[in-house]
Parts: sequence; structure tokens; C-alpha cells
Amino acid sequence: MDYGMTPELEEFRREVRAFVATHAPAIPPKAGVRSAESAEELALLKEWTGKLFAAGYLGGDWPTQYGGLGEAHSAEHSVVVGEEVARARASLMPGAGNLVAHALFDFGTDEQRERFLPGIRSGDEIWCQLFSEPGSGSDLASLRTKAVRAGDGGFVVTGQKVWTTNGHWSDYGYLLARTDHDAPKHKGISAFVVDMRLPGVEVRPLREMTGTSDFNEVFLDNVELAPEALIGSLNQGWTVANSSLGHERSGVAGNAVRLRQSVEALKDLAGKVVRNGRPAIEDGLVQDRLGQLTASVEALSALVYANISRWSRKAERVHDAPMAKLLFSEIGVEIQRFALELSGEAGILVEGDARGLDHGRWQDEFLYARAFTIAGGSSEIMRNIISERGLKMPR
Ligand SMILES: Cc1cc2nc3c(=O)[nH]c(=O)nc-3n(C[C@H](O)[C@H](O)[C@H](O)COP(=O)(O)OP(=O)(O)OC[C@H]3O[C@@H](n4cnc5c(N)ncnc54)[C@H](O)[C@@H]3O)c2cc1C
Repeated sequence: MDYGMTPELEEFRREVRAFVATHAPAIPPKAGVRSAESAEELALLKEWTGKLFAAGYLGGDWPTQYGGLGEAHSAEHSVVVGEEVARARASLMPGAGNLVAHALFDFGTDEQRERFLPGIRSGDEIWCQLFSEPGSGSDLASLRTKAVRAGDGGFVVTGQKVWTTNGHWSDYGYLLARTDHDAPKHKGISAFVVDMRLPGVEVRPLREMTGTSDFNEVFLDNVELAPEALIGSLNQGWTVANSSLGHERSGVAGNAVRLRQSVEALKDLAGKVVRNGRPAIEDGLVQDRLGQLTASVEALSALVYANISRWSRKAERVHDAPMAKLLFSEIGVEIQRFALELSGEAGILVEGDARGLDHGRWQDEFLYARAFTIAGGSSEIMRNIISERGLKMPR
């Protein structure tokens, strides 16, 4: 479908497609947002990140003095990059480097920007996001990790984080910790840079049901931070975090592309599977489901483009991104569940099983699909935002 791409953007798409085909690392594709499985994979991803920034395909929206492209860049350019990387089943940069970069542009010091931005652009330094805690995810402002002022003006941090994607590969963490216990919960939080090699930082990888370790528990035991580790002012962390979280939009467009690929693969699967002596795709009920899922994915794509257009006109509404996130993650679960239903007993095969339909792809996609309904705000929280803030319904 034509979602208003101009000839200039189509030309840009061709350029990005050729770049991705030449440079994207040859890492076997997996469902979702996954960590490197080995030091070799990590090295390839770091190199790839450096190439994406050097080509202007990442960081185009950064301030020009830090390598951004100014007027030559638009939200649509980011979308095209996200879509083309997804189309090739490659990944964008690992970690939370882009997230912390935006915090540093808006709230950091010149010293912090000079120290950290080059390592993010080159891909050499990996960052993780140390926000969520065992008791604080949806209600992030209730976080309990504390940072206590030390005699030298620095801070001593104690607490536990969880769900820390890429924590085990990270050089630095973008941390939220409580610095004022007496203030209202949103007003007593500060943001920090944590060197993950400091004494007292312990990263424990968690093994997930997909069989891989993508996120971690991170324990902080009297970790001493220098005064310069603070991002922004003391107790400004909630504003810092929310501002940096509002910058990333290309991921959703890439995710819509992945769902479209999944529906195409689902049609192939329905052509291969035999039911009652005939290919399943000849069954009217199967055709109905495929039709519904195709329509849902097209609706999602249209919504994503409408959102991007509103975003670039600075006319975005508070419920726009939550609607796309909710739709994307819920359709994903439906597609993957239907794939396993269709696969029958072959659906229990996992990645690495040598034979069978699509070699365990659907199992991996199915097991990961739930994660998208939680990460970045759960489906229930998205529905709350849409109903309370978008439709103005009562709490
Ligand atoms: C794959 C993945 C990667 C992640 N990576 C990171 C990372 O790198 N760094 C990081 O800091 N965090 C990360 N997260 C954490 C993520 O932000 C949280 O999981 C998410 O915010 C939900 O918080 P929670 O897990 O504590 O669940 P809870 O908030 O405890 O929610 C539990 C259940 O209650 C529901 N619920 C909660 N509050 C309400 C409400 N008000 N109304 C209705 N229902 C409600 C939720 O929808 C959910 O079903 C990641 C999560 C996932 C799944």
C-alpha cells in the first residue's frame, strides 16, 4: 500500500536497502529484541552500529554539532531505516545508547556529551537501561533503589534492578534512583550514569523461556558514583527519563514490517500443512483467519504512518503511540498462536531442530510474542492511557 512515501523517500529506501544487504551482520535472525549470544556476535553488532551512524542512518535526529543531519533528516527517514533493517531480519543497534544520548542532549553537561556520545556513535560502548525493579515496572515512579549523597558530593547507590536488557554486555547503565524519600514519588528521583565495571555492580543473566539470556538482574551494593555521574539536576530524574523515552519511533514501523512478513510466512505455512488430505490454505476457516490477520496488519501499518505524520507535524496525541503499540503486540500474539495451531505437532520444534516446518521459527516467535505485550508498557497500561487520557474516561 502507498502510505505517502515521496519519490525522494523511495530513492532513500533503495539506498538503505542496498546498504543493509551489503553491511548487516550475518547473525541468524530471532524473534523480538534479543541480545548477542556470544562475544563474536556482539563485536559484529558493535561494528554494524558504527556503520549505521557513519552513514547517517542512525543519529540523523541528533543535534548537528554531535553528528545529526539537521534539515536533511525527517521522522520518515528514521521509519524507512527501521523498516529496511526489519525487512532484512537484521537488528538496529544493541542497548540503550540512543536513549541515553537524548537524555544527555537535553539535560547532560558538555563534559558528559563529549565523554559518552562518541562511544555511542562508534558502537564501541554499550549501554543498558536501569529503570525497572522487582516491585516497580508499570508504576516506575515507586522505585526504591536509593542514591545517598556522599561527603565528596558524589552518591552511594544501593538497590536492585531487573529486566535489564543487554546488562551483561554493557559498559554503562542509565540509572534511575531515589534521592529524596520525603518528596512526592515522581519528584524524588534522579538520573545517573553508572560504569558497569564499578565495585558493587553485579549482573546476573536470567535465562528466558526462549532459551536465551537477553535480560538480567542487576544488584547495586554501595556503588560509589562521582558527582559528575548525575544527569540533569538533583531530583529531576522523572523529567529526564520521560523526555528521553519520547524520542524513539522507528521501532514500531519496523515491527509492523515484521508482522507483515509473519503473515506472509503464515500463508506459506498454510500451503504446506495438510489437513484432511488437502493443503490447509484451502480450508475456508483458515482463509478467514488469514484474511483477518492480513487486514489487522494493514490497519496497523496505516496507523503507524498516521502517527509518524502527526509526530513530524508536532501534532501527536498522547494515545497515538499506545494505540500502535497495543495493536502491534496483540496482533503478534494472535499470528504466532495461529502458526502453532496450524503447525500441529511440528509446532513443538525449537530452533536448531534440523527438520520440520520452518525449523522452529514459529516456536521462537510464539514464545517471544508475549514479551512485546509487557516491554515498554504492558497492554493493560496502554489501554489505560487510551481510555483515560485519549477518550477522557474516568479512572
Ligand atoms: C523483553 C523485556 C525487556 C525489558 N527491558 C527492560 C530494560 O532494558 N530496562 C528496564 O528498565 N526495563 C525493561 N523491561 C521492563 C518493562 O518496562 C516492565 O516489565 C513493564 O513496565 C511492566 O512492569 P512489571 O514487569 O513490573 O509488571 P507490573 O507492573 O508488576 O504488572 C503486572 C501486571 O499487572 C498489570 N497492571 C499493572 N498496573 C496496572 C494498572 N494500573 N492497571 C491495569 N493493569 C495493571 C500489568 O499490565 C501486568 O499485566 C523489559 C521488559 C521486557 C518484557
